[in-house]
Amino acid sequence: MEFSVALAGNPNAGKTTLFNELTGSRQHVGNYPGVTVEKKEGSYGFNGHKIHIVDLPGAYSLTAYSIEEVVSRDFLVNQKPEAVINIVDASNLERNLYLSVQFLELGVPICIALNMIDVAKDRGIEIDFEKLSDLIGVPVVPTIARTGMGKTEIVKAAVKIAESKKKPEPLIISYGDDIDKALFAIEKKIKKENFLTDVYSAHWIALKYCEKDEQIISKGRETDKDISSDIEKIVEKVTRHLKDTLETYPEAIIADYRYGFIKSIIKQGVVRHQFDKDRLYTSDKIDKVLTHRFLGPLIMLAVLMGLYKFTFTYGEVPMEWLGMAFGWLGDTVSSVLPDGHLRSMLVSGVIDGVGGVLGFVPLIMFMFFGIAILEDSGYLARVAYMLDRIFRMFGLHGSSVMAYIISGGIAGGCAVPGIMATRILKSPRERLATILTAPFMNCGAKLPVIALLIGAFFSENKALFMFLVTIGSWIAALLAAKFLRLTIIRGESTPFVMELPPYRFPTLKGLLIHTWERTWQYIKKAGTVILGISVILWAMMTFPELNSSEMQKFDLERKALISQYDMSVKEELEAAAQKTEPPATEMSKNAQALKKSLISVDSSESEAALKNSLAGRIGTSIEGISRFAGFDWRTNIALVGGFAAKEVVISTLGTAYSLGETDPDDTDSSLSDTLANSPNWSPLTALSLIVFTILYAPCFVTVVVIARESGSWKWGAFSMIFNTLLALTLSILVFQIGSFMSL
Ligand code: GDP
Ligand code: MG
Repeated sequence: MEFSVALAGNPNAGKTTLFNELTGSRQHVGNYPGVTVEKKEGSYGFNGHKIHIVDLPGAYSLTAYSIEEVVSRDFLVNQKPEAVINIVDASNLERNLYLSVQFLELGVPICIALNMIDVAKDRGIEIDFEKLSDLIGVPVVPTIARTGMGKTEIVKAAVKIAESKKKPEPLIISYGDDIDKALFAIEKKIKKENFLTDVYSAHWIALKYCEKDEQIISKGRETDKDISSDIEKIVEKVTRHLKDTLETYPEAIIADYRYGFIKSIIKQGVVRHQFDKDRLYTSDKIDKVLTHRFLGPLIMLAVLMGLYKFTFTYGEVPMEWLGMAFGWLGDTVSSVLPDGHLRSMLVSGVIDGVGGVLGFVPLIMFMFFGIAILEDSGYLARVAYMLDRIFRMFGLHGSSVMAYIISGGIAGGCAVPGIMATRILKSPRERLATILTAPFMNCGAKLPVIALLIGAFFSENKALFMFLVTIGSWIAALLAAKFLRLTIIRGESTPFVMELPPYRFPTLKGLLIHTWERTWQYIKKAGTVILGISVILWAMMTFPELNSSEMQKFDLERKALISQYDMSVKEELEAAAQKTEPPATEMSKNAQALKKSLISVDSSESEAALKNSLAGRIGTSIEGISRFAGFDWRTNIALVGGFAAKEVVISTLGTAYSLGETDPDDTDSSLSDTLANSPNWSPLTALSLIVFTILYAPCFVTVVVIARESGSWKWGAFSMIFNTLLALTLSILVFQIGSFMSL
């Protein structure tokens, strides 16, 4: 067989030395066409193969920053050598691997010659090349080019690659949320238009646009000006965003994450320093403490607890103000509009429903602010790093941690981007297990539901409860993952490689922007999707109305009550009703008694009406099962509504308790107080409902995304059924065991 192998690497890594060692006198020197860069070619015979060898000019990166880099890159993509020997200076591993990572991103078939191991050894650096090979996924051969040590082995590795004729899948690493999103958008466009894809992969072109690679951009502009300018617009947008939030550029972030990727490989015992301990960088020094074997996890738990403490301490007061404001708004609308469907829809559907969701904005905002600090500083990446070992025990992967966190693993994320983030997982099984379990996290929609219940029933220890609920949802997700990996998605695990970006000091501006972006998303959703669903659910909770004979029954009851009293008592009540705020004490005893009886008839009527409505019928029909978990028909209505979006659980409870007002004496008490005082509710019911809400079927949008990302509706349906059954089983267990121990 005859094929060509290129030698590539940083300047001074030893390329030419190895080249001479292999080719001896069979070489000739020319120039690359059009440029003055020297081109050395030669040949080498090996096991009957004739290998054509090219010594590429030294380069630090594959972005078109220098002429040598352009020449190397063009050679690799245009000439497509069957194999590339990447020569890496072992005494300067981290720096040299930066280029290797880019070869992998481009999808070049490389093997690594770990050169100058003699120099490395002198400096007290010892490298576990087998481990490096496992983690980076390509063959690694230790060499000393100057003496020819390892040259046969590295050629053997290159021949093996050339013979296999497989084009490697380009390496995909995460460059953080912002850039990943931009890359995804650009890739979609590129794939749709088949833009430049004859030579490069869509991911690589997208990446180069983000890195502002002049050569690719000008090639792109020549090919199609419009497409190119659309892509440039996406890049401009993310550039501006990064400038505003982190005061940096996409190129810098991408480089950071590449180094993070390399660091995380090196940190796993690939490099052993025998002396030379004082060369630790600040980030590494901080990591010594924050990712310490024992100290690290303790700090992590303390940080989590601190976050909740912070959120509940500062979110409380403004939340009360908002609750009061919505209460006032409801009262005002009630008093201005005449009784009827419009008033009922506005007050019970829109204000109580959407208001219930919006009432949590302050809490969400403080939570997001805290998370922004953790994220912008680089701490979240360490959390993922530390949890890797645990995750692997459950058949997942260190990269799953990020998907969990994005889905709301700390609180207030969303499973939709979380599931998309699983794309960085290479093993399809680990990816599927992550996709199916990420929806168990506490997303921003479940957060207010949980906060409401905690506030109503466990108010002494809010932060602690939130902490326990979070830990509980992780345990549930991990156990479910283990179950899936032992049953329907069995298979091997892949080694862990994760990016550890350097620590940064978050800027206040960046924190505020990140907090606001997420809070605004929440508000927007409440004002649009949740508003729509609330109105629909209100209608389902109002129609069909009671028929006239049933209404008459209540009217008769009222008449009978009134007839028991003097005419004057009725007049007194009517007069009191004319005043805006009748003080109860000014009324006679009889009038007070009558009022009380009338109100109780009213509330029986509204309860009967709610029960008779479409939603009420659905809720009642599943009460047979749900009561084992402690849920009455009202809660069932809310849970069915929650499938549309989990916030709806709150808005529906708000509407249900406002329509079927149980205690009309205090119309403006908050939903949380209403629940706390209701005889149907106990802390145990709340606990059971928390368990159910966390675990049951993901919301509709998430199901769609699960189906899309897993490539089959089967998995979308599976997650609805599996999660709901799991939720029901566990909440029934909680409620029954709790009742048994008479909690
Ligand atoms: P290039 O820029 O990648 O072509 O690097 P060269 O092949 O020109 O090598 C740079 C320097 O490193 C030369 O002085 C080589 O003799 C030396 N060198 C190359 N490989 C080794 C090695 O494995 N061990 C040692 N000690 N020196 C090496
Ligand atoms: Mg050279």
